[in-house]
Amino acid sequence: MNKLTILERIHKYASQNGDRTAVFNPCENPSGMTYKELYCRAVKLAEYLNNTVNDTNPIVVYGHKNPYSIVSFLACVLSGHSYCPVDVSVPDSRIDMILDQTQSGIVLATEEFYSDKTGVLDLKQIVEICSCAAETVKPIPKESISGDQTFYIIFTSGSTGNPKGVEITSNNLNNFLSWSSTLGDEKPYDPDTVFLNQAPFSFDLSVMDLYTSLYCGSRLCMMEKKVQADLGAITPFLRENKISAFVSTPSFANMCLVDKNFNSETLPELTRFFFCGETLENKTASKLIKRFPTAVIQNTYGPTESTVAVSSVRITEEIIERYDPLPVGYPKENTDFIISEPVNNIEFENGHKTGEILITGDTLAKGYFGRKDLTDKAFVLYDCGTDKVRAYRTGDLGYLDKGQLFYKGRIDLQIKLNGYRIEIGDIESSILKNEIVSACAVIPRINSGKVKSLAGVVVLTDVNIEKSAAEEKIISELKKLVPPYMIPQNYIFLNVIPMTDNGKVDRKKLISIIEEN
Ligand code: AMP
Repeated sequence: MNKLTILERIHKYASQNGDRTAVFNPCENPSGMTYKELYCRAVKLAEYLNNTVNDTNPIVVYGHKNPYSIVSFLACVLSGHSYCPVDVSVPDSRIDMILDQTQSGIVLATEEFYSDKTGVLDLKQIVEICSCAAETVKPIPKESISGDQTFYIIFTSGSTGNPKGVEITSNNLNNFLSWSSTLGDEKPYDPDTVFLNQAPFSFDLSVMDLYTSLYCGSRLCMMEKKVQADLGAITPFLRENKISAFVSTPSFANMCLVDKNFNSETLPELTRFFFCGETLENKTASKLIKRFPTAVIQNTYGPTESTVAVSSVRITEEIIERYDPLPVGYPKENTDFIISEPVNNIEFENGHKTGEILITGDTLAKGYFGRKDLTDKAFVLYDCGTDKVRAYRTGDLGYLDKGQLFYKGRIDLQIKLNGYRIEIGDIESSILKNEIVSACAVIPRINSGKVKSLAGVVVLTDVNIEKSAAEEKIISELKKLVPPYMIPQNYIFLNVIPMTDNGKVDRKKLISIIEEN
């Protein structure tokens, strides 16, 4: 069983346990889709794609939390195409950039799509094509994605305002799943396990719940944005849907913890928590352990470029007492961490050599789609003395203590806000596109080591523009270019951006200006 790939497993469940639920969105249709329906519909849609799409370019799958999005992902790979998930929160102009890069011959859209310049298959058409899916479970099509072929491409924030697409192969994904499916291993996942799908599919954290669930024959429960935004609705949602494996960012757990009913008495089924994507603070972990004393809480670490996560550690009371910050864990099998040369003069932390974290192993992405320049910079051949190994430069600072990794922040201007990965340069170049702006800088407001919000520092082309009108115009233009989580909430207007002696934006000075305001 261990050797079966994700597609082989889905095929097996569809053949042997076809009537088990694979995926459901309780807001739409509580009974969801069974493994047989999921697989047979995906094969049907794959046949359609084979007959209508003449290229092998990646296919953009646009939408939010619809089981037909999963049908679409699988249909792409079963027809020999990689797919690129794009959530509804991504603005149109950004989708244009993604389409320019992928040259998708068709877009599969489970929500209304803004443009028809690429052929679009909408939900109604997808459902119609799938409605005549065969009753028998056909074999996996021979043209399906396998081995070192790209399975999916996830676009992340790029520092110059153009998102970059991380190419994850079928082998990468299967290597990740053979590890993620054993995480928090006290009781194996089974058909009764209900995984929470909180992250949008364009964020690679969703791969942890979506594919681990399908790999183990479990059930995936999709939680829409509107439920996530309603504090009073989250705990009832978790209870009614018997969520047992909770995959999210620590920020989302913090939101849940605001509700005093978010505890093991109200949620007896909820016994496993998996965190990734940003720092799990001691405070959050400690509250969680008090509310769920017997639950398994797993802190995992990794970038999209190494298939979701590459290390993990179980967080216990003892670990919370002993470490602050918490460790991000031990590497998974076939993965190693290299701490490269010291950065920013920070050489030792508690006696440990601190430097940039490099990752090696069997889940390293192929690179950035169509961007050899960026790929060569980030994926390097690292000279270990005896050997040269392919390694990904994370841009994260950290150190190893007896084989366990500790994360100490970034060496560049990439940040995490509520779990979202953002390049500060991405926002700055988008603000600069505004005709009323002549210069700008974006400064993260940090509290207890965590980014809480963003502030925009702006120099206007015309000092006579009224400030509140300028702010309004900047925000409304920005909404067209970047997702909502990338829009700074506060703005300060200066006559000039302060510079350091070597001509860079003086970010330290800007932090103090913002603090004074
Ligand atoms: P993403 O590609 O969106 O998953 O973002 C990857 C980045 O998130 C990493 O390079 C880290 O900077 C950060 N990150 C991921 N996991 C953790 C963690 N457990 N603790 C702290 N930061 C993390």
